[in-house]
Amino acid sequence: MSDAPIGSTTNPILPGSTLGVFGGGQLGRMFVEAAHQLGYKAHVFALRAGSPAGLLADHEHVGDFDDLESIQEFARRVDAATLEFENLPTDSIRAAARHTIVRPSAEVLHITQHRVREKEFLQSAGAPVGPFAAVGSLQELQTAADGIGLPAVLKTVRLGYDGKGQQIIRSVGELESAWNTVGKEECILEGYIEFTREVSVLIALNAECECVIYGPIENHHKNHILDLSLLPAPTIHPNTPKEATRIGRLVAEKLDAIGLICVEMFEKPDGELLVNEIAPRPHNSGHLTIEGCQTSQFEQQVRALCGLPLGCADSVKPAAMANLLGDLWERSEPNWKAATLGGAYLHTYGKESPRPGRKMGHLTALADSIDQAREQVLAAREALSS
Ligand code: AMP
Repeated sequence: MSDAPIGSTTNPILPGSTLGVFGGGQLGRMFVEAAHQLGYKAHVFALRAGSPAGLLADHEHVGDFDDLESIQEFARRVDAATLEFENLPTDSIRAAARHTIVRPSAEVLHITQHRVREKEFLQSAGAPVGPFAAVGSLQELQTAADGIGLPAVLKTVRLGYDGKGQQIIRSVGELESAWNTVGKEECILEGYIEFTREVSVLIALNAECECVIYGPIENHHKNHILDLSLLPAPTIHPNTPKEATRIGRLVAEKLDAIGLICVEMFEKPDGELLVNEIAPRPHNSGHLTIEGCQTSQFEQQVRALCGLPLGCADSVKPAAMANLLGDLWERSEPNWKAATLGGAYLHTYGKESPRPGRKMGHLTALADSIDQAREQVLAAREALSS
């Protein structure tokens, strides 16, 4: 038996062991699929029974994320655990870590679940960020707007995603109403970035600091929600591949987040990149890695958690991913009879209520060129709504 810590590449957690994931959404579901593919058992900690991840898991543990007893009971039954969303109480992650290996750590979550701490971390790591200021009152908002200038974006420091909990402020006259709508709690004011593109890189990091990177992936949003992701990114600035991967690696290594990390960036017209945010988990923009790359982001998450060597991140073919939102169900059930979908890969997440804006599934198309892949995935989505 080696003296290396469990979960390192010299003493890995082997297939046949049981892995846990905190969170029952689609990211947890695809983690469970990857764990099963490699021969692990998978337990899911979910808020409600019948969660997308729980439906596929070997065991679904239902509990509240701040119930330390419940968290520890779950942790005692798994050999290692990871998470599918970053807003878990850090006390719960610390409690779980007394009973099992938990990756990423509570320290990583402490940074990434709070927008001001995250931006301060990025700055101290030497990663480029736009202007920002912490704001705790209307008066502080006015001072911050003076310093940063308008337009600017006011965001709650916690729990915002897909544009929720944020407001663009274009003039001084809008400060008070923005504060009343979004604020009255800890916020961050960010300078409004005139970007031409949004890109992300995904980084897998294991306990030996072995690191592989996907991307940059080009991302297109509708109503602040990711709509389409493309790899390779077809229209980015020529400097972006090198610079985005440099920044991604820097952030992952300084954060020391074992597992999968996504770094989202804005590309400005002159090619300058600014980091928007970090997600210490697989990311929607990385779903195209399932079919489009040698190893998916979810398999990397399993490998990094267990201390297996990381897989090859090379692309198999140009890949485009389109999200399927609940809006597709608005008029009627999608046309599932559009069976072949031009060869696109269909994923649905097993969610029962298709509300507008809710992520219900996604499609990925592979082709010989990224333009073809984009056309195919959009045509497949169109066929579902016909
Ligand atoms: P976030 O929740 O921070 O990822 O923001 C959601 C979306 O809002 C981003 O994908 C951008 O399209 C937009 N956004 C966020 N922050 C800014 C900013 N500082 N300047 C311009 N657009 C932003």
